[in-house]
Amino acid sequence: SKAGGRNCMTFYEASMQSSAMQRLTLIADLRRALPERQFVLYFQPIVCLSDGAIAKAEALLRWHRPGTGLTLPDQFIVVAEDSGIIHELGDWVFDQAASMAVRWTAMLGQDFQVTINRSPIQFQPNAPGLDWVAHLRARGLDPACINVEITEGVLLNLSDDVQTQLDTLSAAGVDLAIDDFGTGYSSMSYLKRLDIDYLKIDKSFIAGLGTDVTSTTITETIIVMAHKLGLKVIAEGVESAVQRDWLVKHGCDFAQGFLFSYPLPAKDFEARLTGEVPW
Ligand code: C2E
Ligand code: CA
Ligand code: CA
Ligand code: CA
Repeated sequence: SKAGGRNCMTFYEASMQSSAMQRLTLIADLRRALPERQFVLYFQPIVCLSDGAIAKAEALLRWHRPGTGLTLPDQFIVVAEDSGIIHELGDWVFDQAASMAVRWTAMLGQDFQVTINRSPIQFQPNAPGLDWVAHLRARGLDPACINVEITEGVLLNLSDDVQTQLDTLSAAGVDLAIDDFGTGYSSMSYLKRLDIDYLKIDKSFIAGLGTDVTSTTITETIIVMAHKLGLKVIAEGVESAVQRDWLVKHGCDFAQGFLFSYPLPAKDFEARLTGEVPW
């Protein structure tokens, strides 16, 4: 292409260059977003399948990106991870989520847990983030107000260091959930080494409930296995009454999905939680 001169840049090179530019712009915008308070947490109800009550909420990150509008994590989490921004951002999510858990616990007069997604990057040795347990205690908050969701990627070749970090959270009373269970590459041997409380069945399996034999069998098997191991099960991505009814019939503990509610801004979630808006 060089032989063709500067004005003959190929389409491929031009698009490579513009995607590299877009990435740099994204990183620059992300760095500004925290100090400029452009991030916001949405909350999606996690429903108890035996009585339909809201049991917990998952905190899901959103970004009011200037010029773009409400931006979903799929558009920026990977870049936040690669650029290291995830450390500060993840700590912000954690602190905000903990504040809401405390607020809702006080409003309801009973424990209300908020679950947080923690990136594998935040578990790297010497990661610059906060000590979450120490931070909760310093704020006078009960660590039991927080659930941490991790993916099997965190557990791949589970190191002593990651084990220690997870054990410290568990020992303080933070519950641990395996997100997207069944989609990762790790073996299940970590279930013997860690104090896991919840398995979250990935929405790709829930989507096939009742129609796809493999998805249905996998879901049924995860529920049976989890219960034999003393773990609770959360089904993700529940969109239909047929899926919900199947899950109730097969003894799944909790469910989350558009059938019950989209992720909501805190004040809308709170209105649901306190019954101000009919459920
Ligand atoms: P996830 O942890 O698996 O979160 C569930 C995703 O499924 C959310 O997407 C949620 O909006 C979506 N969802 C909920 N119910 C349904 C349903 O019935 N059908 C379908 N099709 N989707 C449903 P969202 O909010 O776009 O988040 C995408 C991913 O971004 C999350 O997947 C999580 O991996 C990541 N993420 C979100 N917030 C954070 C965060 O604070 N920190 C980190 N590290 N990652 C986050
Ligand atoms: Ca999650
Ligand atoms: Ca536990
Ligand atoms: Ca998930």
